[in-house]
Amino acid sequence: MSNNPKNAPAPAPAPAPAAAPAEGEAAAPKVKKERKEKKPKANVQVWKLYKLEGEAATRLRKECPRCGKGYFMAEHKDRLSCGHCGFTTFKNK
Ligand SMILES: [Zn+2]
Repeated sequence: MSNNPKNAPAPAPAPAPAAAPAEGEAAAPKVKKERKEKKPKANVQVWKLYKLEGEAATRLRKECPRCGKGYFMAEHKDRLSCGHCGFTTFKNK
């Protein structure tokens, strides 16, 4: 009788995986706030409001009495208004 001792290989215990330090665990969740981009202001073509006559420049629009020089009144069909301060004068016919 032959006794063949079975040398069953014992299942090697799997080595515990080294606990890798979780990266970015401490990083706070980023909250992205969408900012509305401001539209660039329309390029005001101030040069259109002046007319050169010889050497003198004449203003084609009335200046705002409140804001002073450099602030022109927008011309509407029945009124003039200042876009800076809101001053409005009505045209009298
Ligand atoms: Zn004004």
